[in-house]
Amino acid sequence: MRLSRYLLPILKETPSEASIVSHQLMLRAGMIKQEAAGLYAWLPFGYKVLRRIEQIVHEEQQRAGALPMLMPTIQPAELWRESGRYDAYGPEMLRVRDRHERDMLYGPTNEEMITDIFRKTVTSYRDLPKILYHIQWKFRDEIRPRFGVMRAREFLMKDAYSFDLTKEDAIHSYNRMLVSYIRTFERMGLTAVPMRADTGPIGGDHSHEFLVLAETGESEVFLDRAVTELNLGDADIDFDDQAHVAGIVEKWTSPYARTDETHDQSVFEAETPEERRLTARGIEVGHIFYFGTKYSEPLKAMVTGPDGGSTPVEMGSYGIGPSRLVGAIIEACHDEAGIIWPEAVTPFHAGIVNLKQGDSKADAACETIYTALRKAGLDPLYDDREERAGAKFASMDLIGLPWRVTVGPRGLKNGVVELTERRGGASEEMTPEEAVARLSSVYLN
Ligand code: ATP
Ligand code: MG
Repeated sequence: MRLSRYLLPILKETPSEASIVSHQLMLRAGMIKQEAAGLYAWLPFGYKVLRRIEQIVHEEQQRAGALPMLMPTIQPAELWRESGRYDAYGPEMLRVRDRHERDMLYGPTNEEMITDIFRKTVTSYRDLPKILYHIQWKFRDEIRPRFGVMRAREFLMKDAYSFDLTKEDAIHSYNRMLVSYIRTFERMGLTAVPMRADTGPIGGDHSHEFLVLAETGESEVFLDRAVTELNLGDADIDFDDQAHVAGIVEKWTSPYARTDETHDQSVFEAETPEERRLTARGIEVGHIFYFGTKYSEPLKAMVTGPDGGSTPVEMGSYGIGPSRLVGAIIEACHDEAGIIWPEAVTPFHAGIVNLKQGDSKADAACETIYTALRKAGLDPLYDDREERAGAKFASMDLIGLPWRVTVGPRGLKNGVVELTERRGGASEEMTPEEAVARLSSVYLN
């Protein structure tokens, strides 16, 4: 993309309505525009990041065996009356009425609808297990929308739902999702820690929230440092192997890690040596939950077992907030100059800065690099504006592309350009061909 043709409405001043750094930087980098409280339009630059996050979520969900689908945003109230949640959900639910005076709502979550789909399509244990998911906009009329896309009213959610015959099988589905979440967040360049969450009346220890550590997090968290040092990498995982998957879950969930809601100081101290105790703040980016027959019972989603008897299906639900993640990643990855995108989610792979637009040699070298990068399968952003070098650098730092290729007449005299890493700022001179080869090797293996 050539910057002269793009829409990147960069702001010089920090907008006063934004209180935390990710919100400020998203506005300054022209990623979003607020349309009403808690409602945001995603401008081209922000939308690219969102799509890359979604893509990772899709890949990791499907790797773990979950099936993609899509449910509507508007739901009939009827289903929620069946589960008993229509009245219980309260003012967070946006209720609407259609032209036939039927009560409808903008879905805040989809347990009822997916259970309805399940009961109409699956009847036998032979068709289990199943995990279905979609990535769809949700609406919750949050009492205090704030922090930009992190606590919005309309937001994107990946919600998956598992269906099993027995509790044991359901726990395996839960474990599959937990492991898939570890890799999902790791791939985004985040340290997201699974923390034990409240299970309410269901009981048991099968609910975890994934929190990204960041000073501006809404939750206070208490954890064993050891869990932040774990790494799944690209380990081969057989998601059908119950013991193997359970072993990974055990490794990640046995170190102490809880939010203020479930924290118990005496257990923390008993389980964690003092030098490893970490108290910090965190942003919830995912939440997984085993809830048994909470919805299948009232909605009568039954399956016949091997003995011919009919039982309500065992369920769990698994959420990730891709739109909140955009903010969370910025909270975790920025400096005074701006955003520092992890390579896995960066909207463009590299920026090309032409120090002297209009200089025929500099222009030609930029064109060559731009074309070569695109041929190599990369997506560069070429700053071809007639701007001072300083302003171009400031914009590039603000929008946070991981790599910058700087091209100017002086370097070109010696046949070189400069390749600079956004994180840390280390620069190296090399030929344009070498710069293209280096970037290709960074991204394409
Ligand atoms: P929170 O405790 O932060 O209000 P929640 O427990 O209500 O979240 P879930 O119902 O577990 O959230 O939703 C799954 C995921 O959806 C969350 O982990 C989060 O990433 C995302 N999410 C929830 N509410 C919002 C929101 N208002 N804005 C953006 N993302 C959200
Ligand atoms: Mg939650």
